[in-house]
Amino acid sequence: TKYKEGMKKSRQTFSGKINDLIARYRKVDEDFFEELEEVLISADVGVTTVMDLVEELKMEVKRQNIKDTKDIKEVISEKLVEIYYGDDDEKIEGLKLDEEDLSVILVVGVNGAGKTTSIGKLANQLKSQGKKVVLAAGDTFRAGAIEQLEVWGERAGVDVIKQGAGSDPAAVIFDGIKSAKAKNADVLICDTAGRLQNKINLMNELSKVKRVIEREVPNAPHEVLLVLDATTGQNALNQAKTFSEATNVSGIVLTKLDGTAKGGIVLAIRKELNIPVKYVGLGEKIDDLQEFNAHAFVYGLFA
Ligand code: GDP
Repeated sequence: TKYKEGMKKSRQTFSGKINDLIARYRKVDEDFFEELEEVLISADVGVTTVMDLVEELKMEVKRQNIKDTKDIKEVISEKLVEIYYGDDDEKIEGLKLDEEDLSVILVVGVNGAGKTTSIGKLANQLKSQGKKVVLAAGDTFRAGAIEQLEVWGERAGVDVIKQGAGSDPAAVIFDGIKSAKAKNADVLICDTAGRLQNKINLMNELSKVKRVIEREVPNAPHEVLLVLDATTGQNALNQAKTFSEATNVSGIVLTKLDGTAKGGIVLAIRKELNIPVKYVGLGEKIDDLQEFNAHAFVYGLFA
């Protein structure tokens, strides 16, 4: 129901529009498909994905001999889920953590995307699963970033390892690893800077942080999560490309899905970048983070 609530806005416009379309057309014809295309594109599904989807829908409609638009909703839902998972049916969901030893999660993304908030939410969630979590304040650049992470650490009830503002992020992460090991922690979550104005500099910094993690912990980082703001559309896709080049992103945390009609970006990310969405942010509070599930997501749209 939280999912449903959070998705209200997306539903109101995305599926609301589809529902409206279905009510207005009744009969499945060319005009119906054309308007459906527009609705999907306006939801940020991505133009090529929409074209493919509508082609497939047309074939399916023929195959099943569907004449009435009310019978097409189920087919649309099925196709959207299919698009998300692709042909190989690999349902990559949840975090891949080491259950025996220390796991390291590196969190990257531009300022304002919701990185700090998501780290706090994730720490809280992992802790409630019985894991011992430590945070490392690797954004030493943005004013207030360290303090903000400390606030979230307090809310979640986990320790935050930090140094002063302006210190070397790689050194902070190194400290974080040492401390997490000493505390026998299960998961270390590393915050990083997000100043995209100086892209090359930031990417070098992230690579260095990643090298330290790789050197200090076997098989780490276990996850590199890129935090993206769902409301930024195409921009989010571009950011994903930039960060992928520097850090080998293993999963996306898609934030602010509660505040947008553009939930289709989930499909665009999966389709165009082939990176799984692992979590979605559905609000500003500590428990407003949901593990992503494509089936629940799509059927939530039409609920
Ligand atoms: P950072 O600069 O990437 O660390 O971003 P912050 O974590 O400081 O978040 C920026 C703003 O986005 C804050 O006002 C957060 O409350 C807000 N925010 C983060 N995640 C979500 C979300 O899932 N939904 C909503 N509505 N707001 C969010």
